[in-house]
Amino acid sequence: MSLLDILKFKCPNCKEGAIFESNQQLFALHIPKMHTRCKKCNRKFEIESGFFIGAMYVSYGLTVAEFLAVFILCYFVFQTSLLTAFLFVVGVILLTSTLNFKLARTLWIYMFYSK
Ligand SMILES: [Zn+2]
Repeated sequence: MSLLDILKFKCPNCKEGAIFESNQQLFALHIPKMHTRCKKCNRKFEIESGFFIGAMYVSYGLTVAEFLAVFILCYFVFQTSLLTAFLFVVGVILLTSTLNFKLARTLWIYMFYSK
């Protein structure tokens, strides 16, 4: 398991099959479609029904981290107004929502991966 496999959204078992149907459009505002099983090794990604509910906590953590990073950058480093910093934060959170969704689910799959 490596960080590169996670960032490429690859299957934790074979490291070749894609978890999502498309790895394009990371910054588009849509919910990416997942494969139910790995196309290469046939491993099921959703271990049990409701498995991905826990990925929401990962997504929440990623979003808060991005929120803090962008806010600190805008407000303290570039010394923008509070409103401008808030608008930047909202913009970045919206733009990275698809990326966060994919990263959260992939991290969740890797966290519970066992051979
Ligand atoms: Zn696989």
